[in-house]
Amino acid sequence: MIEDIARKVIFDIKPYIPGKPIEEVERELGIKDVIKMASNENPFGPSPRAVEAMRASLQKISMYPDGNCFYLKDMIANLLCIEPDNIIVGNGSDEILKLIAEAFLEPGDEIVIAQPSFSEYEFVGKIMGARCVFVPLKDFTHDLEAMGRAVTEKTKIVFVCNPNNPTGTAVTKVEVDEFLKNLDPRVLVVFDEAYYEYVEDEEYPQTLEYVAEEQNVIVLRTFSKIYGLAGQRVGYGIAKLNIISALNRVREPFNVNLLAQVAARAALEDQEHVEKSRQGNREGKDYLYQWFEEKGISYVPTQANFIFLKVGADSQEVFKEMMKLGVIIRTGDIFGHPDFIRITVGTMEENRRFTESLEKVLKELGSKI
Ligand SMILES: *Cc1c(COP(=O)(O)O)cnc(C)c1O
Repeated sequence: MIEDIARKVIFDIKPYIPGKPIEEVERELGIKDVIKMASNENPFGPSPRAVEAMRASLQKISMYPDGNCFYLKDMIANLLCIEPDNIIVGNGSDEILKLIAEAFLEPGDEIVIAQPSFSEYEFVGKIMGARCVFVPLKDFTHDLEAMGRAVTEKTKIVFVCNPNNPTGTAVTKVEVDEFLKNLDPRVLVVFDEAYYEYVEDEEYPQTLEYVAEEQNVIVLRTFSKIYGLAGQRVGYGIAKLNIISALNRVREPFNVNLLAQVAARAALEDQEHVEKSRQGNREGKDYLYQWFEEKGISYVPTQANFIFLKVGADSQEVFKEMMKLGVIIRTGDIFGHPDFIRITVGTMEENRRFTESLEKVLKELGSKI
């Protein structure tokens, strides 16, 4: 029996439920022109410069990539005014989350996670046999006070998803300062800032300052969201030297592939594309907010490129009906809010298609919003 030889903890892991791919929906329903507003990818696509850079590098793929990501780290360091040695690059920030768990967690250790938040924290913790302590959000936002109270002498890591996926809310500098001040300095704090480039709140903390102060923090950023490279899998972590060395001990030697490094470098150089994407997101957000207000739909104001909103109907039903109209969204039930959905802000055309479809679906389902 496989169950007798496999590690016991793996049977305790819930499988990740990804956003449904466009091709799958088109195949299953026999429809065309499906749009995906489910996984927070950049609706404006990758930087054309990243695409061109990859094309120009195709001949090089018989060689192993630079295992140290020298040029990419150098560029990130310049952009953020930090040292390359304070950076680790991963096959998506998902990989860095796993490296953190592998480097720091032993069976029986505790990790503190907000609920609902990004499911990868629980996943990487459980693989290592850690106990996950969940702290409910307050007003859809991390309750850092309660998270601080949840820390025990067994706690190794606290995960702060900022802005939080799926709610789009952010904790402020004042809240984080207070939280860190009261925290046992042995505890590692992971700030997952996958949506950093979208944030507009002026109270948002600049967490690289905590790294500069040599606190026990790791800041995670990614090329999967505003940089439009989700398919290439590149993310990075920033921390003090001894944390980075610990992570490097458990990292595979060639963890970031050659084309991914090339694409990320070109994407970093194309800040115009980043600005255009940010602007497009802002316009999309404004349009959607206005529509929600007209229709009396309540939503959580977002600091990211996705919105958590109350549909007043079973989100699984909404998902199915929206899919028939060719719009893929995310249900709220997996986040403990069965009458909510999460949508990625799209292009204007996608946003209009979404509002028209949702209006039809909510009428059909007799939603009371
Ligand atoms: C999308 C996302 C990531 C990014 O993961 P990658 O592995 O870099 O694609 C990380 N954290 C959160 C909260 C996310 O939503």
